[in-house]
Amino acid sequence: MVVTRFAPSPTGYLHIGGLRTALFSYLWAKKNGGNFVLRIEDTDKARNSQEATDAILKAFEWLGLEHDGDITYQSQRDDIYAKYIKQLLDEGKAYKCYMSKEELTQLRETQMANKERTKYNGKYRDFDGTPPEGIEPVIRIKAPLTGAIVVEDGVKGNVSFQAEDILDDFVIARADGAPTYNFVVAIDDHLMGINEVIRGDDHLSNTPKQIVVYNALGFPLPTFYHVPMIHNAAGKKLSKRDGATDVMAYKEMGYTPQALLNFLVRLGWSHGDQEIFSMDEMKDLFHPKDINKSASIYATDKLDWLNAHYIKSTPNAELVELLTAYDLVLTSHDKKEILLDALKERAKTLKDLAALAKEILETPTSYDAKAVKKAFKGNAIEVLNTFGAKLSVCENPHLPTDYHTLMEEVVNEMEIGFGKIGQPLRVALLGKMSGPGLDSVMAILGRDETMLRITNAITAHS
Ligand code: GLU
Repeated sequence: MVVTRFAPSPTGYLHIGGLRTALFSYLWAKKNGGNFVLRIEDTDKARNSQEATDAILKAFEWLGLEHDGDITYQSQRDDIYAKYIKQLLDEGKAYKCYMSKEELTQLRETQMANKERTKYNGKYRDFDGTPPEGIEPVIRIKAPLTGAIVVEDGVKGNVSFQAEDILDDFVIARADGAPTYNFVVAIDDHLMGINEVIRGDDHLSNTPKQIVVYNALGFPLPTFYHVPMIHNAAGKKLSKRDGATDVMAYKEMGYTPQALLNFLVRLGWSHGDQEIFSMDEMKDLFHPKDINKSASIYATDKLDWLNAHYIKSTPNAELVELLTAYDLVLTSHDKKEILLDALKERAKTLKDLAALAKEILETPTSYDAKAVKKAFKGNAIEVLNTFGAKLSVCENPHLPTDYHTLMEEVVNEMEIGFGKIGQPLRVALLGKMSGPGLDSVMAILGRDETMLRITNAITAHS
């Protein structure tokens, strides 16, 4: 069974780079009928916070990404790590190192002065003398001194690391006993049954160290997939300004979960030239082998395009639900269908959609000066009066077509072009020249509100 994981360090919000690897991991597990598990890497007590963990869980909930089983918290697993540290010490695969901080600094400085790679010199690797007094030892693992460690990566192919160039006997437990990052990751991935690791390629250089741990403990290696980073349009690492913000900020901006997930799946993965993927299609088609080898480019207009697509195709009843998050409650509005049908094609975000709806639903308190100048010339007031008179005696106007018929009657009787009624009416109803079809607007407002706005405009402009 395929088991994948997402293993965030709860040091802040969930950003889209993290979300993308989470999505890839989720899809790959689900495609294979496997499990997607969540591990919170909260060993750095100074930097971790419960709020950050909560923020990650909240984002997952918003996006509908469910993890399987209980969440694993590394902070609760010290006993497990201690057991493996002891095992490696007992087996002679790890050892206590008594080098003092000063000595280590001195060693580094000498190596730097000699233009050598800075690394531990193995002083205590085979030490059997009397340890120096007053120093709490760290525990180091015996890493291979020569040869290569090959990461067989599902995205990048075989990546070979020379032991001389990158490895030394790295610390697996600090002087206070706290286990280190690469050590616990390897143990947890093994114990949690994770056999496919999909993560950002900023972790590629950690992988040979983790392989040293796997080998020392006799654990089989998982399959690794290291995903290239997301870049901005200038080819630089994505920054906050480009959109590397909190995933929940996308909700605030009015993006739908489907659009964001669809956008992210296409950042670094493709299936022919298909752009739109439902969740079922993603699960069906995703394969980590198809992850691009080079960095992907973040493009907001693509996200906007996808979001507009999803808004358009969301049923109105669901939009009503979603819009409550943007202060728009349409639940008991009897014309909500007409309203949403008129607007959903025009909105890039749910926030836009809410704003467009409010522009229609709220009686204008001012009028755009340019629009007034253009619309209220000639006999505009007379046209509005004629329309108002017809509307007031019309029997139960309800649909957009009812209002359209009234407008047509005025146009025919007064022998004017449609613009001659459309422009002043639009300014009267909306305070400006833009907006959806007036017949829909009037149907949404109903007769009384339409009459009120026409009367207000006549008063203001005659
Ligand atoms: N905790 C690491 C991070 O947040 C991820 C570790 C991993 O995926 O192996 O970057």
